[in-house]
Amino acid sequence: MEGGRGAPLKDEELPYMEKSLSYAHALLSPVHRSHIDRHGFFEGTPGDYTTVCIDNKACVFVYYENGIAKCSLERVYNDKKSEWKKPISCHLFPIRVLNGKAGYIRYEKIPECDAGIVKGIKEGTSLIEFLEEPLRRRFGDDWYKNIILQLNGVQK
Ligand code: SF4
Repeated sequence: MEGGRGAPLKDEELPYMEKSLSYAHALLSPVHRSHIDRHGFFEGTPGDYTTVCIDNKACVFVYYENGIAKCSLERVYNDKKSEWKKPISCHLFPIRVLNGKAGYIRYEKIPECDAGIVKGIKEGTSLIEFLEEPLRRRFGDDWYKNIILQLNGVQK
């Protein structure tokens, strides 16, 4: 996916990323590795950090498996070498949290998610349900329970 800036990061996520990078490094291509070694993995200023993208395309943490782009930070988590999965903005995507406030979220519609929409409609799974884990991680269990109650109310 092309895009100007990488994934938005919370300041407190940087140390977790640094830690995961010690394992993720070996998964990355020489181009991504050397980019991180020379320029680091994030850019911006406090309160407005993002991951770095290479040539306006892949995030530096992307690695490829059978031609499929995957997140090396998530792989480190799946391999149980870290208890931190990946930036919450990535985990929540295509939901975006605006201004860091819990009360204002939006759905970002991009063509890459079209197949997911078709699957969700076929299986009767809403985006809110599909993103249960990151929504609980970001807003807490009570918030999630409430939004499901509200959704069910709307559907009655
Ligand atoms: S999911 Fe991983 S590879 Fe993708 S933008 Fe986020 S940190 Fe980068």
